Amino acid sequence: LKPAAALAFDSTNYPTSHEKIQDVQDTPYFIDNKFMKSEATQFIELHDPATNNLVTRVPQSTDAELKAAVESAKKAFPAWRATSVMARQRIMFKFTQLVRDNWDRLAASITLEQGKTFADAKGDVLRGLQVAEGACNIPQQMMGEVLEVAKDMETRSYREPLGVVASICPFNFPAMIPLWSIPIATATGNCLILKPSERDPGAAMILAELAEKAGFPPGVLNVVHGAAKTVDFIIDEPAIKAISFVGSNRAGEYIFTRGSANGKRVQANLGAKNHAAILPDANKQHALNSIVGAAFGAAGQRCMALSTLVMVGETKDWLPELAESAKALKVNGGFEEGADLGPVISPQSKERIESLISSAEEEGATILLDGRGYKPAKYLNGNWVGPTIITNVKPHMKCYREEIFGPVLVCLNVDSLDEAVDLINANEYGNGVAIFTKSGATATAFQKNIEAGQVGINVPIPVPLPFFSFTGNKKSIAGGGVSTFYGKPGLQFYTQLKTVTSLWKAEDAISKAADVAMPTHS
Ligand code: NAD
Repeated sequence: LKPAAALAFDSTNYPTSHEKIQDVQDTPYFIDNKFMKSEATQFIELHDPATNNLVTRVPQSTDAELKAAVESAKKAFPAWRATSVMARQRIMFKFTQLVRDNWDRLAASITLEQGKTFADAKGDVLRGLQVAEGACNIPQQMMGEVLEVAKDMETRSYREPLGVVASICPFNFPAMIPLWSIPIATATGNCLILKPSERDPGAAMILAELAEKAGFPPGVLNVVHGAAKTVDFIIDEPAIKAISFVGSNRAGEYIFTRGSANGKRVQANLGAKNHAAILPDANKQHALNSIVGAAFGAAGQRCMALSTLVMVGETKDWLPELAESAKALKVNGGFEEGADLGPVISPQSKERIESLISSAEEEGATILLDGRGYKPAKYLNGNWVGPTIITNVKPHMKCYREEIFGPVLVCLNVDSLDEAVDLINANEYGNGVAIFTKSGATATAFQKNIEAGQVGINVPIPVPLPFFSFTGNKKSIAGGGVSTFYGKPGLQFYTQLKTVTSLWKAEDAISKAADVAMPTHS
């Protein structure tokens, strides 16, 4: 194995602009607490989405490197599981402090590689850090239960780590989603192999560096790279007991099916089409601001973006104001002062988004605000799509059926709350939903009848904090939601329950003859 020099960007020297990088370095992989230079023959070029300048080359990890990562994790596991829970807690405290200390550096890596604005990238880091902070309470969370179930007999339950586990991440939250796995998987005593998105692994590499500094022993966190080939290795490698996946339906349904068939635990959060229902009695200003922020923030590349607006009754008359507000957003390089949204991830993504906008036009919808062709003067080569609003959309249209994952809001009209609920429930996805109303009765009826798994009442992006769980529903989560990320279900996912039933009797009470009937302990 060849050591790599260090991370291309260190804590004192990291980019804070979209200037072309002169000394482009390949992304290393991370094994046994060291950054290594890959022997890969295939590389994935990573371009700054605002300029399309080359930032780094991400290796497709070789078979030998992937196997070495598993061997390293296997070797680390016995000592790590035997490390006291308080020692693991202390490492997690240190890790959270280091993430906080490196907050700007992590966010800068995200802005450079993923494209979102610096302020938004800071939010990406913080939402992940909150999960790590939650994992600092691991001794309480790991506690089992005990009950005297009969005379002299008790049953106790323990939570035990699984062993080697893996996490496969999407491009849109380069820090938050690795941090959905790293803290919980490791604090519970597992060794984790992380595969960040090949489109923006920089934040994950910084997290690996911080994990080493925090005191994670070698092999507890390894980072490998690549695309489908690495994923297939993870799915088929028998030593890997569980896979956390976040990403598209195409990849996630495949990983869930094949991983489960291989006997692994798989949790998989998938795509979305989140609706906002706006009622005539809503606080208009709050509703419009929330919808514009949640539809166009991060250039619509959030799995909880509000990409679909259901306008109930006369709220359709609010469209001109909505369009004015969307039009006022500043689309620019993410490091630029005052930028509201950055570019989309790739030229292919831009092309896909624009073709979905065109399909809406062809199917008879109206393009009320058209973001196609927009380019900020300073960044003519970026993957730009300006805020776009499509009205008069009908459920059969392609722009309604497909996840657009860009700064595009599609708008439908209905006459009543019931109609809004029926429309939203007819959609296959069920990640999140929001309602804007001042009526408690309306909100309660909506909350009861809606099938989406995360409901916001006057809250645009209701992603629960780490003590709850990320509870998408329907096609937005694989396996009928058998396991959700973080919170109690996250803890459950990364641990195996063991129960021990014991009998301690005084000598004279010991049984005298074999009893072949099923023991009932009663
Ligand atoms: P993606 O599915 O393209 O990639 C996710 C991961 O899967 C990457 O690590 C990638 O290398 C791997 N991958 C991609 N194609 C593969 C294939 N054919 N076989 C095996 N592995 C493959 O997703 P993305 O574009 O990076 O992320 C955007 C998607 O993720 C959107 O659909 C979004 O809604 C979803 N997402 C969902 C949540 C959630 O919690 N529900 C959160 C964030 C993103």
